[in-house]
Amino acid sequence: AAKASGRGRVESFTDELGASQRRRITIERELREALARNELVVHYQPQVDLRTWTIRSAEALVRWNHPTLGSVSPSEFVPVAEETGLIHNIGAWVLAKACSDARHLLPDLRIAVNASAAQVQRAGFVNELRQLLNRYELKPSQLEVEITESLLMEDIAVALENLHAIKQLGVRIALDDFGTGYSSLAYLRRFPFDKLKIDRAFIRELLSTSDARAIVRTILQLARVLGMDTVAEGVEEPAQLEVLSHVGCAAIQGFLVARPMPAEQLVDLIARWDSLPRPSSDGNLPES
Ligand code: C2E
Ligand code: MG
Ligand code: MG
Ligand code: MG
Repeated sequence: AAKASGRGRVESFTDELGASQRRRITIERELREALARNELVVHYQPQVDLRTWTIRSAEALVRWNHPTLGSVSPSEFVPVAEETGLIHNIGAWVLAKACSDARHLLPDLRIAVNASAAQVQRAGFVNELRQLLNRYELKPSQLEVEITESLLMEDIAVALENLHAIKQLGVRIALDDFGTGYSSLAYLRRFPFDKLKIDRAFIRELLSTSDARAIVRTILQLARVLGMDTVAEGVEEPAQLEVLSHVGCAAIQGFLVARPMPAEQLVDLIARWDSLPRPSSDGNLPES
């Protein structure tokens, strides 16, 4: 098939492959210097409690501003950091920065920090957490660690031990992107999750397919039975918010409320919060 498709086509295919490989190599090389050059920053996206319509927590999301590459998405560089082991330094830096911001700028919010599987599997991770809690004099419950389901697949024994140790510390644990990975219902009973984050994929389809609504309702029921908190990710429209309120989701996060922003801006948003209207749709919600 490659031969038949002609020379031009084959060439452009190899060029493209080359370009993405070159990009990958550049990212890797530059990422090694990113911390030392102070190019990483942490932004925060608020989570809003649906019962009280208040901001109770925020997710820390790393950003990379490179002088010539521009702003590189964590979806692109976090996987590179994971493959190269750089995630340990980057993750430790994000965690420390989030703790510092939690202490100095956002003392009334719970801060959720994403952790890669490799971080949580490292023996020293729990100690790192403990030291940060001491250094910044944080209540352990002010901190939440977000992990994804892939973690559960890799090294169950160590992961399980560390998750229990994190829980012992009093730090909360959220399961990110729930519903998209491999997690069976059995995992939900074996791991001490405090919160399920319903993946954006279901929220995106919430208004258009009854399947997505049924799945979201089922996840919420499951969370209730297991005593877990819930938050819907990627909420962009008022009508999605209304459906989620209606089916008893505890909290939402998404562009409808705010994009991730610097801690100082979130402080401002919270100060203005009570004077802002709660978004509402003009009816026409799906029936079930
Ligand atoms: P995530 O943890 O699931 O984070 C949510 C992502 O959805 C964020 O993308 C956020 O900006 C985006 N998002 C929030 N609301 C909306 C919305 O309404 N619509 C849409 N379309 N998107 C929305 P971001 O910041 O690009 O991060 C992507 C992923 O990179 C994260 O997914 C997480 O897996 C990873 N990541 C980010 N920061 C860190 C970190 O510090 N450590 C690790 N290990 N991973 C991180
Ligand atoms: Mg997350
Ligand atoms: Mg997520
Ligand atoms: Mg994600």
